[in-house]
Amino acid sequence: RNGRNRVSHYSDAQGAEQDVLAKQLIMLSELQHGFERGEFFLMYQPIMDAHGDVLDAVEALVRWRKSDGAVVPPDQFIPVAEQSRLIVHLGRWVVQQVCRDLPRMHAAGLSHVKVHINMAAPEFLDSSLPAELMATVRAAGVDPSSLQIELTENMVMSHIDTSLPIMRKLTQLGFEISLDDFGMGYSSLSLLKTLPIASLKIDRLFLAGIPRERDDCAIVRTMLDLGRNMGIGVIAEGVETDGQLGYLRQFGCTLVQGYLLGRPMPLPQLLERFGRTAHPAVLPDDL
Ligand code: C2E
Ligand code: MG
Ligand code: MG
Ligand code: MG
Repeated sequence: RNGRNRVSHYSDAQGAEQDVLAKQLIMLSELQHGFERGEFFLMYQPIMDAHGDVLDAVEALVRWRKSDGAVVPPDQFIPVAEQSRLIVHLGRWVVQQVCRDLPRMHAAGLSHVKVHINMAAPEFLDSSLPAELMATVRAAGVDPSSLQIELTENMVMSHIDTSLPIMRKLTQLGFEISLDDFGMGYSSLSLLKTLPIASLKIDRLFLAGIPRERDDCAIVRTMLDLGRNMGIGVIAEGVETDGQLGYLRQFGCTLVQGYLLGRPMPLPQLLERFGRTAHPAVLPDDL
């Protein structure tokens, strides 16, 4: 393109870009095979009341165990899966797996507990999603109100014309919606007001500086006020210290999630820790 009779070099940047592309292509093909071989599994992380006493909900978080045994976190493969239809198949599998696990949670006495499910843009921005979701939960005998769909603020706001009607349809059907990674997108407050959401989740980036950094504290308090004034729940994500938990409680945060309260864990461990048999005090009433 630069003309004849000249030497042209690939820049380092071009080379690096091609490396990244090649790696993504390899990973996508590994992901596809992994999916066919059933290498994905779910972990559940507790969402607790601000005293850390009561389990309110759990978030389903997908993992990939490669054939060599290595476990890959979703931040590394979801963006790659999103480059193809695989994300749609993976997303459907997550919903189906949650629907298989929910009855086991109920049987263990966790019937009030909702399961939060993350959805990526290609999965969510499809007008057939509400009907498909409904068919899946019906077939599993699960009530739609047991599921809360987590959508990132970014995704909802940057596709608002498509996302809003789907959100409305889902809430009409009884599903709940949560705005994930709140504060990382660019919500206009007037738009936020019109969204049919049950809760918003404060991104853990804002929790990092709490209770020491004035700006983070001010932002978090503002989000808590916002939720309260709009009548929606606020979940603080990434709570790791007692200092953070104390601060959140002091300013009226009702729901918290983070390593301090519990790491993502497999279903059996969740049931062992929070299920009926985990609280011997309530056993006599149940017998
Ligand atoms: P997210 O939805 O914001 O999920 C919260 C992430 O923060 C999880 O990472 C969780 O393990 C992590 N986390 C929770 N508490 C703490 C804490 O106290 N400290 C720290 N450092 N981290 C904490 P994970 O499981 O690696 O998931 C990362 C992201 O991958 C999720 O962010 C979500 O966007 C995406 N993801 C996970 N599962 C799915 C899925 O089934 N479908 C889709 N589309 N995306 C998913
Ligand atoms: Mg989430
Ligand atoms: Mg989040
Ligand atoms: Mg995130």
